[in-house]
Amino acid sequence: MTTTRFAPSPTGYIHVGNLRTALMNYLIARKAGGTFILRIDDTDPERSKEEYVDAIKQDLEWLGLEWDRVERQSERLDRYHAAADKLREIGRFYEAFETPTELDLKRKKQLNMGKPPVYDRAALALSEDEKAALRAERGDGVWRFKLDHARIEWADGILGDISIDAASVSDPVLIRGDGQFLYTLASVVDDTEFGVTHVVRGSDHVTNTATQIQIIEALGGSVPEFAHHSLLTGPQGEALSKRLGTLALRDLREQGVQPMALLSLMARLGSSDPVELRSDMAELIEGFDINRFGAAPTKFDVQDLFPLTARYLQSLPLDAVQAQVDALGVPAEKQAAFWDMAKENITTLKDLEGWWTLCRDGAEPLIADEDKDFIAEAMALLPDGPYDANTWGTWTSAVKEATGRKGKSLFMPLRHAVTGMERGPDMSALLALMETVRAKG
Ligand code: GLU
Repeated sequence: MTTTRFAPSPTGYIHVGNLRTALMNYLIARKAGGTFILRIDDTDPERSKEEYVDAIKQDLEWLGLEWDRVERQSERLDRYHAAADKLREIGRFYEAFETPTELDLKRKKQLNMGKPPVYDRAALALSEDEKAALRAERGDGVWRFKLDHARIEWADGILGDISIDAASVSDPVLIRGDGQFLYTLASVVDDTEFGVTHVVRGSDHVTNTATQIQIIEALGGSVPEFAHHSLLTGPQGEALSKRLGTLALRDLREQGVQPMALLSLMARLGSSDPVELRSDMAELIEGFDINRFGAAPTKFDVQDLFPLTARYLQSLPLDAVQAQVDALGVPAEKQAAFWDMAKENITTLKDLEGWWTLCRDGAEPLIADEDKDFIAEAMALLPDGPYDANTWGTWTSAVKEATGRKGKSLFMPLRHAVTGMERGPDMSALLALMETVRAKG
């Protein structure tokens, strides 16, 4: 059975980069009728915060990315201990005592000699007495996984065939000196025990994957399928990492971006299929194929979300936005006509308020000096409300008759005077909704 997981660390709000990972894993699970796990990677007690756990859940709920199961790494420490014991038993785990400064020095020396900065495994040569002495002097060491120096290969769902020489990678530290389990071990144990079959994550994890494959094999687990998506860049190809803080999902929600617009973009961006606005999750699942994604960095422009949001809103019936329309105080009998008029003229739902204010309170008229007399004459011909869908037609005919104006010189000054705007919605529809026309005085 297909099982995927999204595994954020609760150390901040999730952003568009995380969403790419979450969505791909979600869609793979749903497409296969499998299980999608939300795994909270909270083994770091200093940096993990409960408020971020809540925020991650809220953001995923907002998008409709429902998980079937939640797991927390902080509740699974006994499992990680058991795995560590097993690695010790089979001789693949060793304690090392170098300080960060010593490691740094070693790396610099290697680089000076033109060698790759790979940990030299000096700790493997320590006798038990030497280790005891170091432990007494420096406290517990870190625990490193002893890689098997062979090539590590996998068929990546996005990158294609990957082959990494394990000798070019340092034996990864899986437990810190203070006993904290690091992500690599915790992730491997969880993926194995939860039966995760597919792991999609960012291409910054490729080296992790290589070492994780060996750890999984050492622990007797089965290796999932891996796919590494490219990292997002800004519209000009610039690194996005520094700006991701401003691209948190909650900020986009705050700006009025619609979930379906965001999901539609992210489900296709960086793939060979065009971005298409989807109306619901079922369509999104149907149209998704991980193998269509490419390895090249993917450009993301937050501005692309707004036209998609506008188009999505245009497709909605009134009942989908009932709560927002109610909240504005639009009277029940006007709601359907209001939504029909407004949906064609908004980018996000935040724009609805402006339209309703215009309908309810009217607008500061826009009257050119040369049109002053014309508008005064026209306004005298505008009946008192309530207006309806025929008012504009009847009124403009009467004004035409009385003033002899026609076409643009008739309609435009009237539009400007009634709406205070140069252009806008169909005037029959708009005037029918207006409760006040300020130019009428
Ligand atoms: N918590 C890890 C991260 O945020 C998970 C990576 C993974 O998917 O294995 O990078």
